[in-house]
Amino acid sequence: MKPTSTKSHAEEGNSHFPGCECQNGDGHEQYDHEDDYSHEHSAEAVEYVRLGLLAMVIISSLTGWWKHFMSHDWLALAATVVGGWPIFEEAWENLRKRRMTMELSMTIALIAALCIGQFFTALVIAFFVLFAELLEGYTVGEGRRAIEKLIESLPRQVTVRRAGEEQQVAVSDVSLGETIIIRPGERVPADGTVVKGHSFVDQASITGESLPVEKAEGTKVFAGTINKEGVLQVSVEKIGRDTTFGKIIGIVEQAEKSKAPVQRIADRFAAALVYFAFGAATLTFIVTRNVTSTIAVIIVAGACGVAAGTPLAILAGIGNAARRGIVIKGGIYLELLNGIDTIVLDKTGTLTLGVPRITNITPLNGADEDGVLQMAAIAEQHSEHPLGEAIVQKARERGLPLREYKSIHYMPGKGVHCSGGDGSEILVGTRGLLEEYGLEIPKEVEQVLVTKDRPGHTAVLVGRNRNVLGGIVLADELRTEAKETIAALNRHGYRTILLTGDAPETAQAAGQELGVNESIGGLLPEQKVDKIRELLRAGRKVAMVGDGVNDAPALAEATVGIAMGQGTDVALEIADVTLMTSDLSRLLEVLGISKRCYRVIMFNFCGTIVVDTIGIAFAFFGMLAPIIAALIHVGSELAFIMNSARLFRQQAAHKSPAV
Ligand code: ADP
Ligand code: MG
Repeated sequence: MKPTSTKSHAEEGNSHFPGCECQNGDGHEQYDHEDDYSHEHSAEAVEYVRLGLLAMVIISSLTGWWKHFMSHDWLALAATVVGGWPIFEEAWENLRKRRMTMELSMTIALIAALCIGQFFTALVIAFFVLFAELLEGYTVGEGRRAIEKLIESLPRQVTVRRAGEEQQVAVSDVSLGETIIIRPGERVPADGTVVKGHSFVDQASITGESLPVEKAEGTKVFAGTINKEGVLQVSVEKIGRDTTFGKIIGIVEQAEKSKAPVQRIADRFAAALVYFAFGAATLTFIVTRNVTSTIAVIIVAGACGVAAGTPLAILAGIGNAARRGIVIKGGIYLELLNGIDTIVLDKTGTLTLGVPRITNITPLNGADEDGVLQMAAIAEQHSEHPLGEAIVQKARERGLPLREYKSIHYMPGKGVHCSGGDGSEILVGTRGLLEEYGLEIPKEVEQVLVTKDRPGHTAVLVGRNRNVLGGIVLADELRTEAKETIAALNRHGYRTILLTGDAPETAQAAGQELGVNESIGGLLPEQKVDKIRELLRAGRKVAMVGDGVNDAPALAEATVGIAMGQGTDVALEIADVTLMTSDLSRLLEVLGISKRCYRVIMFNFCGTIVVDTIGIAFAFFGMLAPIIAALIHVGSELAFIMNSARLFRQQAAHKSPAV
């Protein structure tokens, strides 16, 4: 049933997020916003008056004192018409559009009751229906507000330093590059980099993690987070919708609007139920010739907690996830997650921290340690790969000069090829890469490459011209929660697969340590995609978990692509689901949310069918008075809606397998 009372809110409310204001700088926005609310409140107030009127007439009917003044039936009739007006209006609208709805079936039942002189019955039914609509509207509205709360937390005013003076201006008037001042207790209004000051910031609004994060010169701060301790001066980089927070808001808004497949099923189910109610009623009338039974059948068979309960459950699921720093792009992913049976995990950056350190350098063929490191660092100078960054950093620490080069070619999943200005070549990467270029791999390399017993360790080879100069071993720690998470996933019957571009031995070592069902190494990015395709063809429903940087194709191919965001917004763009912290246990949480959400929806479906069937049977045999039928209709519908609304209140079950 559509909540008539909150319609204005649902339709207009969406376009008034502060994020919009920041961008278009429209000063009237706020005014309009408030206007909306007052409009909504007055509309709601009228409904409450109607409800009160109906209640009063019902009470007076029961006590009967009114009888002395006027014929009772007239009063009941008038109250039904006035009180039930919104229901009739909606029914008329639906009739014109030839759409079968609950309002229509209830209206027909009401009119039928009035026609056979059951005024009191009509009165009570109108009361129940109106009551249900108000409560339902309130619950759904509450759900929307929960998501809006996320959005309203951005400040509108900001302190900016201009010409040496501090001024208060609207966020929309700040230009990029300006320095803003954020005092303790204030919310950060924009994304930017700290230029002065030191503090701790609560980033829960983005990551769902309430442990404050340290901020000092050079670190990034995010809009929507709360400054806890010191004064921070921040150079503005992004405002409004462009901020990470703004992007999350945009995605959640979109997610809210998009319809999950199960919602379409629910809509169709609700529509079919109305026809079914009429069929059952017609049959009842033909067989029993009892108008009261027929009315009771229409009323009880129209009970449908699915139409409103399903979108509410999905809204609650998405909202609940968002509060924990899990961004879901649409109800469809929440639904798909429920059916996932295989979880594919990328190694570097996902199962490991992605911040490797050099643990060993082995020179070969007469080279020395610094020479190996220097050559590798020259090739990796502009590398964005964590291995490359670690190599360059080490070379800088040792004060090794990095000379110019002519061209650099990066091969994802393999390594780098670099041509020096003097015709020399440098290769850094996997054994396969060096072999591809025709370098002869000396026997000693075997020693370097043994990373078998050291999970998280990886080795890269460095080649110069036709020679292998040596190998560098890097250690990337496995995430502390990785083992636990994999164990929980296995326990819940998911098939876990580790994919990596790293050497097969390294993959094996890490896989064994973590306890995944299968680990495959030596994969190029496109081979990862092939592997996922293969799983899909075998009928598996695959969730791919990656860091979102070089796994984009695999994330896109999987049934659901899950990125570990670490507060970056690249991941937000490509993944279906983004875990804003790099805490792997969030993976369990999102799977759990999806499972609970789906369970609630299924319960509502089954419950509706059971209630309606039993109700119809009783009504058919004349054992259900129309008033009781109305009570069952309203009661069951509200029960299912409340069941969905429970999902809003589910608390984070950190680390525990939330399934
Ligand atoms: P993963 O699949 O674990 O995320 P990648 O696909 O990024 O790993 O890389 C796979 C392997 O390719 C690495 O283990 C490394 O041996 C090699 N490699 C990739 N990029 C580089 C680079 N920039 N420098 C050196 N080696 C690299
Ligand atoms: Mg990777």
